[in-house]
Amino acid sequence: MPAEANGGVLEADVVVVGAGLAGLVAARQLEGAGMSVAVLEARDRVGGRLLNEPIGDGKVVEVGGQWVGPTQKRMLALAKTVGVETFPTFSDGENVIEWGGELRRYRGTIPALGRAALLDVAQAQRKIDRLARRIPPEAPWQARGAARLDAVTFWSWMRRNLYTRGGRELIRLAVEAVWAAEPEDLSLLHVLFYTRSGGGFDMLLDTEGGAQQDRFVGGSQVVAERVAAELSGPVVLGAPVRRLSQSGESVRVEADGGASVSARRAIVALAPALCGRIAYDPPLPGLREQLTQRMPNGAVVKCMALYDEPFWRAAGLSGQATSERGPVKLTFDNSPPDGRPGVLLGFLEGRQARRLGAVGADERR
Ligand SMILES: Cc1cc2nc3c(=O)[nH]c(=O)nc-3n(C[C@H](O)[C@H](O)[C@H](O)COP(=O)(O)OP(=O)(O)OC[C@H]3O[C@@H](n4cnc5c(N)ncnc54)[C@H](O)[C@@H]3O)c2cc1C
Repeated sequence: MPAEANGGVLEADVVVVGAGLAGLVAARQLEGAGMSVAVLEARDRVGGRLLNEPIGDGKVVEVGGQWVGPTQKRMLALAKTVGVETFPTFSDGENVIEWGGELRRYRGTIPALGRAALLDVAQAQRKIDRLARRIPPEAPWQARGAARLDAVTFWSWMRRNLYTRGGRELIRLAVEAVWAAEPEDLSLLHVLFYTRSGGGFDMLLDTEGGAQQDRFVGGSQVVAERVAAELSGPVVLGAPVRRLSQSGESVRVEADGGASVSARRAIVALAPALCGRIAYDPPLPGLREQLTQRMPNGAVVKCMALYDEPFWRAAGLSGQATSERGPVKLTFDNSPPDGRPGVLLGFLEGRQARRLGAVGADERR
């Protein structure tokens, strides 16, 4: 049964806070189970961290999440169900690394930095994968030795388990690329949990066969838009939820602008840190409150340079480049499926994103 308005208050079995992909998929599954659902979204659009940016001729680049890999089976299945196709990320040709002031070309995921660094990275990756296999992804805190693994940063682990400067720098680059944070800011347990969830360290880094393998035709936000369009209940935009109160069998959710929903259950589908900005009555249990205080977002800025055509392809280059210096430490060919225009995507991650995110757009350019 669709959600209904009752004297300005919507009534539904379940209210979902946040119309990112998580909230929209929750709403879709609940409706599939016969429940009425109302979704409240703070922004004037759905998709959250999926956002298309038009670049003319009906084409887009994605300034939020964009890639999907073979282990993201539910995402691939969802896209197929709502009729969004994928296409392979362009990765033909050689990659480039800027290292020690020199440019070097290489093929594959790991740059040619000399035998010692490569062996070092390989042994560290094997250790990470071996440790990660011990972590149950659905409850990482139940892993053997979880408290010990959570008590050290990934950087502390790297200092003990990587023996060359090159090895450490490469793993640092990989961590910044995957987590949008520095190794100093991540616990070892979190890195292992995420590695296990993603199907292995290589899988997180690779383009072909890995997490960067495919992109969505029309941009990833289209998946969220289609899921939203197929819901029968209301998706109220421009409704930042401020208060969630529970009494007896019902929960009342109130947003700025007057939107309000009364429901039997509420799902808050926001990044943990943002969950903590809602006033809960009664207050959240202490442990949950502490969790939201301790799970900050990463920091990432995507920069797109548009050219008439992807000129690097003719030079035998993939568009993938890595730099130890930065500020852009990673680039990809992010052109539309037909290769026009040529789009080079550069990432500012972690410290670089915080530093350059704080200056104006002109200075950043
Ligand atoms: C730059 C970038 C690149 C990424 N690249 C990839 C990638 O290539 N592949 C990949 O798999 N993942 C990638 N990710 C991660 C991926 O985008 C996210 O994991 C995913 O989109 C999160 O979805 P979500 O629904 O959990 O949260 P969100 O998308 O954050 O959705 C939460 C929603 O809640 C809304 N909201 C917040 N507060 C309130 C409130 N008080 N009341 C109502 N609504 C509220 C927000 O506006 C938002 O719409 C990337 C993320 C970023 C930022």
